[in-house]
Amino acid sequence: MTREYPIEQTRNIGIMAHIDAGKTSITERILYYTGRLYKMGKVDEGTATMDWMSQEKERGITITSAATTCFWRNHKVNIIDTPGHVDFTAEVERSLRVLDGAIGIFCGVGGVQPQTETVWYQADRYNIPRIAFVNKMDRSGTDFFSCLEEMETKLKANVVPIQLPLGKEDDFSGVIDLVKMKAITYSDNQKSGAVFIEKDISSELIEEANNYRARLIEKLAEEDEIIMDKFVHSGQPTIKEIKRALREATIKGKIVPVLCGTALKNKGVQPLLDAILDYLPSPIDIPSIKGVNPETDREEERPASEQAPFSALVFKMVTDPYVEKLAFFRVYSGRISAGSQIYNSTKQRRERIARLLQMHANKREDRSEVYAGDIVAAVGLKSVTTGDTLCNKENIVVLESIHFPDPVISVAIEPKTSLDREKLSLTLKKLSEEDPTFKVKIDRETEQTIISGMGELHLEILKERMLRDFKVKANVGKPQVAYKETITKSVESEGKFVKQTGGKGQYGHVLFKIEPAPAGQGIIFENKIIGGKIPREFIASTKQGVIEAAKSGVLAGYPVVDCRIVLFDGSYHEVDSSEFAFKMAASISFNNGLKRAQSILLEPIMQVEVVVPEEYMGVVVGDFNSRRAKIEEIEIEQGATRKIIKGFAPLSEMFGYATALRNLSQGRATYTMEPAHYGEVPGQIAEKIIGKI
Ligand code: GDP
Repeated sequence: MTREYPIEQTRNIGIMAHIDAGKTSITERILYYTGRLYKMGKVDEGTATMDWMSQEKERGITITSAATTCFWRNHKVNIIDTPGHVDFTAEVERSLRVLDGAIGIFCGVGGVQPQTETVWYQADRYNIPRIAFVNKMDRSGTDFFSCLEEMETKLKANVVPIQLPLGKEDDFSGVIDLVKMKAITYSDNQKSGAVFIEKDISSELIEEANNYRARLIEKLAEEDEIIMDKFVHSGQPTIKEIKRALREATIKGKIVPVLCGTALKNKGVQPLLDAILDYLPSPIDIPSIKGVNPETDREEERPASEQAPFSALVFKMVTDPYVEKLAFFRVYSGRISAGSQIYNSTKQRRERIARLLQMHANKREDRSEVYAGDIVAAVGLKSVTTGDTLCNKENIVVLESIHFPDPVISVAIEPKTSLDREKLSLTLKKLSEEDPTFKVKIDRETEQTIISGMGELHLEILKERMLRDFKVKANVGKPQVAYKETITKSVESEGKFVKQTGGKGQYGHVLFKIEPAPAGQGIIFENKIIGGKIPREFIASTKQGVIEAAKSGVLAGYPVVDCRIVLFDGSYHEVDSSEFAFKMAASISFNNGLKRAQSILLEPIMQVEVVVPEEYMGVVVGDFNSRRAKIEEIEIEQGATRKIIKGFAPLSEMFGYATALRNLSQGRATYTMEPAHYGEVPGQIAEKIIGKI
């Protein structure tokens, strides 16, 4: 078997955008022009292809990151859908992990909207090369140039237009291509925009086009010697030279080429597809993936080559009630065929891949073999969850997993009827396998099932899916904040677990130093035992004892975090010591220490952005302040009709904010919210929370 498309003709891309900027419409047009779709869907009618979960269609937002493959000019393009809603930044993170490049979609009217910044900075963090597309050039109030300016000021992006709009609003008729110096116009008789004409730039526009082309060359000259050379000697670089330099600078993340168009009126999408091939990297244009060999603890690289050992990362699980579990993964190196054995190095389990599926917009295609650079789904993998590495047993590697934040909100859930009990637990299991930020546990004391996630909307959507996709009716309780506890003082503590009455006894004895650790560190356990005072085999169980004890703090039983435990002394008994005894001793010692270490209660603090029309500013700010919020800044939105309030507020004060804001602003304000960090609960409020327990 050889691959149909060479790896350098493969693009793995994502589309990032603020909700409503037009991501779904653009994706849908891409799928249409690339020939895999016969009828164009429209988002507003709920038929767009990528929005394939029924409830996403109703909400008109795209939450999951399914991967879809299409073909353009002899290249294979895999589109990994990234969600636009801020409650789902974990979803964005995980899709960013497997992309090689991305398109940032901007609304020509709204410009750089609040959440675009979050997603853009996330992409900066992963060094993802990007091109930008200013959409909605047909809408009234649209402004390509002020959008460019905002990208520079707000996103600190080195943007370079490679197109200029031809007309605007109702008169928008196409684009000027500044690389080829041609005008591309679409005929309005052709509704689908499949036909366009390339012609010379008209005399009224040529001067502006020349200016922007000069700017493009100048920017490229800063990054590229050949262009610089021509620039200095006032020669014109060729189209080929410009494209090469632009491609290299984009891939290095030095430049963001900007295009424009309108998805709704079907203009400018084909040049965008060309730009994906021309300027975004193939899997061999980016650095090789790195991982750790668990046998040697050494870092290893896996080059993007079919000849290298197989390695892949699972980035998305999808279950639906009718088909089997699908594991979407990206092959980083090597090849793998359907029916073969693989090794899940994260879970240390061997597995067999039953089938390999390539997902197209309207069908699934069975693949007998997949190669480095491919993005496909596997059927038949039982042990796999998101973030797992797949490899072969002879060349084990564990790739860096995807980081998911801890849930900040939880609710109790119970089936409406006892008939639903088993179905509910099965459904919850499936949903939590799909979504690593959604957790399920049974409360030991109340025996209630508790589900937790990243926000009210997150849990709301999962509840709807349960009902719609799995037909499980459930009642949920009031949302609860996932508090945590930490310590503020260093202490030493001792724990002994000794039972020596007849027969084999128990003996475990440990001494700890317990100290506060920096925020976000969780529980750190260090072993400083020397001279065999405690044999090695009991150290692991001592750590285990601490980890289990830390699940429940001394203030109100919330998990303890950000705390360093140093095991520095202890003793053992030749006959009576056991793993169990050391686990118990560790737990006793930890709890003893905790009681004296001045624990405090921590609460999740949310980053909030409210976009509000001027006239409601006063009431919205007043209400925001009453929620213990801290306002960081108030910005004027582009067009200056609305204000953007940015700040932080404790999650516990933000329950039901959607309704409150709607009432305060007669439905005209919108907001986004995501967990930012944990902060100390102020004294009196903490007392109330602790008092209730
Ligand atoms: P998403 O939330 O980013 O996926 O955006 P959608 O593709 O769902 O588009 C949001 C809304 O904007 C829908 O009502 C679209 O019809 C509309 N829309 C998308 N692209 C354009 C465009 O180019 N011009 C105009 N006027 N409307 C558009």
